[in-house]
Amino acid sequence: MKYILVTGGVISGIGKGVIASSLGTILKSSGVRVTSIKIDPYINIDAGTFSPYEHGEVFVLNDGGEVDLDLGNYERFLDITLHRDNNITTGKIYQHVINKERRGDYLGKTVQVVPHITDAIQEWVERVARVPVDGDNKTPDVCIIELGGTIGDIEGMPFVEAFRQFQFRVKRDNFCCVHVSLVPQPKATGEQKTKPTQSSIRELRGLGLSPDLIVCRSSKPIDVSIKEKVSLFCHVEPQQVLSIHDLSSIYRVPILMEEQGVSKYMMERLKLHPHMTRPKRFMQSWKELADRYDRLLREVTIVLVGKYTKLEDAYASVIKALQHSALAVSHRLNLKYIEAADLEMETLSEDPCKYHEAWHQLVSADGILVPGGFGVRGTEGKVLAVNWARSKKVPFLGICLGLQCAVIEFARNELGMADANSTENVPDTKNPVVIDMPEHNTGQMGGTMRLGLRKTLFKTDASLMKRLYGNVDHVEERHRHRYEVNPALVEQFEDKGMKFVGRSEDGERMEIMELQGHPFFVGVQYHPEYISRPMKPSPPYFGFLLASCGKLQGFVNRGFRKSPHMSYSESDCSDEELTKFVEKVKIDKDKSMAVGATHEIKGKND
Ligand code: GLN
Repeated sequence: MKYILVTGGVISGIGKGVIASSLGTILKSSGVRVTSIKIDPYINIDAGTFSPYEHGEVFVLNDGGEVDLDLGNYERFLDITLHRDNNITTGKIYQHVINKERRGDYLGKTVQVVPHITDAIQEWVERVARVPVDGDNKTPDVCIIELGGTIGDIEGMPFVEAFRQFQFRVKRDNFCCVHVSLVPQPKATGEQKTKPTQSSIRELRGLGLSPDLIVCRSSKPIDVSIKEKVSLFCHVEPQQVLSIHDLSSIYRVPILMEEQGVSKYMMERLKLHPHMTRPKRFMQSWKELADRYDRLLREVTIVLVGKYTKLEDAYASVIKALQHSALAVSHRLNLKYIEAADLEMETLSEDPCKYHEAWHQLVSADGILVPGGFGVRGTEGKVLAVNWARSKKVPFLGICLGLQCAVIEFARNELGMADANSTENVPDTKNPVVIDMPEHNTGQMGGTMRLGLRKTLFKTDASLMKRLYGNVDHVEERHRHRYEVNPALVEQFEDKGMKFVGRSEDGERMEIMELQGHPFFVGVQYHPEYISRPMKPSPPYFGFLLASCGKLQGFVNRGFRKSPHMSYSESDCSDEELTKFVEKVKIDKDKSMAVGATHEIKGKND
């Protein structure tokens, strides 16, 4: 087993996670089996009780683990399935050590950070690295370990010390260290500055770890002279310094890294012997993806009516799933965020501008998405958004709470239950159309929801979603909820055209809803975004995007076969569009790749 430790310098939030997963992608494309571990040095046991405002979304794994959103990056980039133990926190390590101490495993010794905590970290890493993640039961060859935060943080110290020891435990050929640092370019001088990188490398070395690769993050491409300077002052060869500037899409990151010789360096440094020879189409699919992304001509406007819209990371997987599907239908995603509460009447009196702006965005959208969420604030706004989508026949996708809002709206306006609600919002509502699942209401917050992978059986063949999933009998998707559609009322809903076409194995839980007589009005109790992949978009999102850009009917007529339209093709454009495209490519070439969305390569933690 080979280990690559990825650390960060200067500040967090510069894309360490994306760089670590890109490194994994490159190795995987070279025929090496890759797994990953993310270390978050906070005391929480897991991310389950986090507010999305603080850490962004809580990512859910197949086994129900509620983990840091960076694990989502690894799963998407490497197309692997991780387990809850692939996310280590200080809390988990201490809990493990304290449990051992209580059992008397330390035979009366004083239990200390060194060696007990540091040993526990090393043992954990060695154990988890061997767990197969590819679905083929084969042990991985390389484990990429990303240490959250930056070098020098007090919280990270036991982990840094653990890896200082670990490099000797596993020997030099099996361990290397990649340090991701920032090269800022202050406006005043316009010069790229290497001093912050120099200090963070000095700090890393002071703690006993030497960088094998230094990845310099910057807004513009880094000058050769700057690379040389980093090499000189940080005591590494020039080939060990990589520069990653802001790019037009994250798909370009592995390509740019590989152009700087990463796989060759890693193969030599870690004496890797890939199982296969380098595939002919090495990194080809990433190149195609990145090129297609840069050439998109048409735009589709989706609004996300949510609650945590101030922080994009709160909906990280939803945004990724939308991007995967938009790319699959050859449209650039124009995503707008609406704060659900802004759609409510109260906002009209408090701040009419905000209210009208929110409604303007809602009514101009090609598709409306209501994502998952918790708590009462904003639910009335979401119900109003659902009502607009339903009555105006705008494509709608409701995820988890989004499905629950769709059910509430339908009950109020179609079933004559004016005060229909969820017991999450009004515990003693007269018309509880969404109720709490008894076994998941234990009075405790952490880890008590219906979590992880569960089976949904299709109840009927007359289902758009069944066809979108490829005409299968059942699907398995990841869940995270406490409330459900009230099974006692399902017949009433179905009589009026709101069909629950997918249900849990016992038939009790409503998993997929489709509204008859609407071009696309779908709600799912699970979170399909967690397993969407750049090259395998999630079917509910894909259907939603097809509908939002007016391609769903054509897709249905063609018998749900992938059409040439799904990837960029010239025949897909009018002459005018083609001319625009040619012009755009010319401009892009001139501007080089440097100009682009900086947020694309941004991690969390800032
Ligand atoms: N709050 C709702 C529930 O617990 C929805 C959860 C979600 O959207 N993830 O059921």
